[in-house]
This record gives sequence, structure tokens and C-alpha cells, in this order.
Amino acid sequence: MRHRIAVVGGGPAGLTFARVLHRYGHPVTVLERDPAPDARPPGGTLDLHEKLGQLALDKAGLLEEFQALSRPEGQAMRILDTDGTVLRDWRPRPDDLAHPEIDRGQLRDLLLGPLDVRWGRGVTQVVPGGRDGVLVHFADGREETYDLVVGADGAWSRVRPAVSPVTPHYTGVTSLETSLDDVDTRHPDLARLIGDGSLAVYGANRSLVAQRNSGGHVKVYSKLRAPLDWHTDLDLADAEAVRSSLLALFDGWCAPVLDLLRRGTAFVHRPFYVLPVSHTWPHVPGVTLLGDAAHLMPPLGVGANLAMLDGAELGCPVSARSGHLGPSDLGCPENSETSGSGIVSVCSR
Ligand SMILES: Cc1cc2nc3c(=O)[nH]c(=O)nc-3n(C[C@H](O)[C@H](O)[C@H](O)COP(=O)(O)OP(=O)(O)OC[C@H]3O[C@@H](n4cnc5c(N)ncnc54)[C@H](O)[C@@H]3O)c2cc1C
Repeated sequence: MRHRIAVVGGGPAGLTFARVLHRYGHPVTVLERDPAPDARPPGGTLDLHEKLGQLALDKAGLLEEFQALSRPEGQAMRILDTDGTVLRDWRPRPDDLAHPEIDRGQLRDLLLGPLDVRWGRGVTQVVPGGRDGVLVHFADGREETYDLVVGADGAWSRVRPAVSPVTPHYTGVTSLETSLDDVDTRHPDLARLIGDGSLAVYGANRSLVAQRNSGGHVKVYSKLRAPLDWHTDLDLADAEAVRSSLLALFDGWCAPVLDLLRRGTAFVHRPFYVLPVSHTWPHVPGVTLLGDAAHLMPPLGVGANLAMLDGAELGCPVSARSGHLGPSDLGCPENSETSGSGIVSVCSR
């Protein structure tokens, strides 16, 4: 019998899970709140690690396509002191494929492929334990029932309350993100400063990171330790006011680094939240969590990688259970049903 499977959230976790199931012929419905794939900017660049995100893509049969799209040169990393002293200037060898970069939008399109995504389907609540399965409530008032509901709906998951009462808390660190377009022609001095990959400048309770995306696009993240309400006197929609405030907060840093803030376009405020490191939950038949919904962490360069590995590690045993394949047929460990965080025993109905 084929189980009715839905994954809530079409981010790296949910799409990787869905692609593994799709690869092995199991139907899966992706329920995504965004009305369309391009409804909002997809975000910056991600480096996918050989033993995390790339391993997940391999399980989904997408590693070669990733290698064709990714930017190995983007692994380059330059670290400066606030006065501009170069502390580290590392460039990868051309054959170094340990963690090449890919734009989030490119990764999303790669994972989307032929998947059946239902856009504009915001989930409000998931209720397990019904006679017909797990009941999913939508923002438009509709309801659907599935045998397995996988919550891959990120930090503020609406699936998580079905298995756990835990909610994210603020880390005390916030970020303001801006960007530069066409950097090689419009800002060649900054293009040279950033190099082929990332530039990071670390000061006391402040940091500034610039990351090259494809097509000469650069994202700049200013991070500061601050209370959540640090901006009460500031209109975050007013780019010039935010810029002045940031230039005051980063006063004294070397001029070329501050030019990244002076020339950036609009600013987006992103406070960093986390779930407790110890977060686990008792088994609830028919519902589980993946990625940030399960283990939201500060941006340490692995959140999306782990989210994708979660998706692949759950997709393998679910494909095996639902079809006629053994885990080893899927390139998964024989005991993959209990691998990773041990949250995988979900198709027990
Ligand atoms: C500034 C920054 C930089 C980062 N850099 C890196 C990095 O370099 N490398 C790395 O590995 N990680 C990085 N991360 C972490 C990474 O972005 C996340 O860990 C990753 O996106 C988690 O993937 P996910 O699929 O679990 O959740 P998400 O990416 O949050 O996707 C969740 C999806 O669910 C949808 N959704 C939400 N609610 C609902 C609902 N109620 N109903 C239906 N759909 C819903 C959302 O629209 C979204 O599409 C960074 C994070 C930040 C903030």
C-alpha cells in the first residue's frame, strides 16, 4: 500500500526529502506557503559540504547537476582585522570540491525539478491521531489527511507543536543584510577586496561578511550583538537611516570595508534565533520534523547542509518502506531507518 505523504515547506530540507522519494517513484506532496517559487528573493549563497549537502544531493541523484552549477572558486576566504590587516587569505585549488558554493535560487530550482509542489498552501496546524491519519489545516480553511506529515517549515514551524512545545529564542545577535549588484563593473575596488568568495572582518561584538554570489551579485551581512529591540528609534524601512546607524556602529573600521555598507542597496533585518541544542521529542506516529523546524541554529555554515542531509536520511527509509527497495538499493546505510537523530520511525500506521 502506498502511504499518503506530505512535506510542509519547500526549503532545502523539504525539497531534498521530496526528491529522494520522487527518485524512487513514491508520490509526495510538497505544501509550500509561498505563492510561487519566485515570490520572494531566494537569499544568498550556500557552500555545500562533501559529507553533508553534497551527500544528500547524491542520494537524490543530483550531484552531477550540482557540480555543473556550483562555484568551487567561491570557497575562497579572506579574513581581515578591522584596520584592514589581512589575517588570512585562502584560495582553493581548482580541483577542490570540498564545499563549493551555489546560489540558493539555483539550488531550489535544482531540487524542484519535476516535483509536485502546491504553492500558496500555508499550513496553520497539524493534528495527529485521527482515524484516517494526520489532519492538516490550511490558512484558507481547507483540511487534508495524510499518513505521514513531515514538518520542514523552518524556524517558526506550524508542524512542530504537534510533537514538541519548544519555541525558538533570540541569540542576542542580529544581522542587517544588504547587497551590491554587478560588482565587477560597478564596484571593481570592492570586487577586488572581496575576491572570488567571501570576505569576513571581525571586531568586538561586530562582524561584517561579504559573499559573492553568481552574476556579480554580492550579499553583505553586518552582524552585531544587541538586544532584540535595539532599533526602536530607527525606521528599518529607511535605507539611509539604517546605513547611518550602521556606519556609526562600525565607526573606526577601515574605509574600504565601510564602503560595503555605504554602497549597499536596501537593508533587511534578520535577528538570529535558535532552538535548544538538546531539542528532542517523543515519537508521534505520522509526524516528524526536518531541518530548522527540528534544530534551528545560528548561521554557522551548516544549517542548510544538515537540513538537506535530514531530508535525504528520512527519504531513504521512507522510500524503502513504501516501495519494494531495500535501503542499500538506495545508496543508504542498511540501518538508515534509525540513522541520524533517530526520528525516522514514522510510517508505523
Ligand atoms: C544569514 C544566514 C546565512 C546562512 N548561511 C548558511 C550557509 O552558508 N550554509 C548553511 O548550510 N546554512 C546557512 N544558513 C542556515 C540555512 O539558511 C537554514 O538552516 C536552512 O535554510 C534550513 O532549511 P529548511 O528547509 O529547514 O528551512 P527553510 O529554508 O526555512 O525553508 C522552510 C520553507 O517552509 C516554508 N514554510 C514556512 N512556514 C510554512 C507553513 N506554515 N506552511 C507551508 N510552508 C511553510 C517557507 O516558505 C520555506 O520555503 C544561513 C542562515 C542565515 C539566516
